[in-house]
Amino acid sequence: MFDTLVVNANLATMRPGGAAYGAVRDGAIGIKAGRIEWLGPRADLSGAPEGLATEVLDAERAWVTPGLVDCHTHLVYGGNRANEFEMRLNGASYEEIAQAGGGIVSTVRATRDASENELVATASARLGSLLAEGVTTVEIKSGYGLDLATEMRMLRIARLLGDTAPVTVKTTFLGAHAVPVEYKGRADAYIDFVANEVLPDAVRAGLADAVDCFCENIGFTPEQTMRVFDSAKRLGVPVKLHADQRTDFGGAALAAKYGALSADHIEYSSEAGIAAMAAAGTVGVLLPGAYYFLREAHMPDIGAMRQHGMDMALATDSNPGSSPLVSILLALNLACTIFRLTPEEALAGVTRNGAKALGMGATHGTIEAGKAADLVFWRIGAPVELAYAMGANPCMKVLKSGV
Ligand SMILES: [Zn+2]
Repeated sequence: MFDTLVVNANLATMRPGGAAYGAVRDGAIGIKAGRIEWLGPRADLSGAPEGLATEVLDAERAWVTPGLVDCHTHLVYGGNRANEFEMRLNGASYEEIAQAGGGIVSTVRATRDASENELVATASARLGSLLAEGVTTVEIKSGYGLDLATEMRMLRIARLLGDTAPVTVKTTFLGAHAVPVEYKGRADAYIDFVANEVLPDAVRAGLADAVDCFCENIGFTPEQTMRVFDSAKRLGVPVKLHADQRTDFGGAALAAKYGALSADHIEYSSEAGIAAMAAAGTVGVLLPGAYYFLREAHMPDIGAMRQHGMDMALATDSNPGSSPLVSILLALNLACTIFRLTPEEALAGVTRNGAKALGMGATHGTIEAGKAADLVFWRIGAPVELAYAMGANPCMKVLKSGV
């Protein structure tokens, strides 16, 4: 006996191999205790649906996908950077914006100054937009506090969001996001503080599911990144990396060397770096929202990623400076139009591979027996429509753990 039996549904299971999108037409899904217990063609059901489940859910021929996974966001922050957006479009230079107190330092200041209620309210609104489009799992990074108290506060708020909304939140400690003003010119001292004080505290408090660094010519060096990663390793926490967004800084290979869950951005990663990631099982997370918003021109080497069999995930990178994007469906469209992903690759990027990028591949990301019953019902005629439409939201219904 199932708790719930979904019938009259077309399933895009996103199981790899086999039919496109792992599709099962006129399918059914049996759910018990929050998990998928059975799925298959409706014709294979061993009796009338009413006799098999406490509740029968008629999907009205909707397409059903796994719950969507946004595996890279910076959802919790104070203020926004709309003023910089306007200054830039009115002709201001980066120097003028920096002199006016803009850039990441302005978000750090606004985040430190914001009350807990403000941070919760603004992040909840952004999260609400994602949930309305079928997101059931989201990663949220710290990295706008850059001091002990505010980094911890950001992570606590991220956890709170997961406790109060129907979504699994994975927290990532990103203390090494930028050098705060009080450490100006002393990046190494700041890295020591992050690696030896803030990170261990965050881990001891149970607030860090993973550790991330901004490894870039305008961020931290590979050597500084390794000091944070070594600390993470000692603490038994998996790592991920903001890698090769603006230059080939060796981030992809570094992430692979540490067995990272993911390396993210990777526009400039070399083929050798991509091959190393594929061999290490490190997922590549593509962030087309930032690419679009920053009007970047150097494409990630999607051909090499396919050739080496690197798993490609896709995320919003929702953040105030470079990707104020709160639509996972628009990320699908951007990935297809700009990066030339196939619609099936894009959907895999926000399901199967997004889950893998969070270390949740065994329990989430596909419609398979034994996995969590995180399911989204879409009023569409074919799965491609999720990536094709711009600004549409055909989400009809979401089940989180079967409910
Ligand atoms: Zn990011």
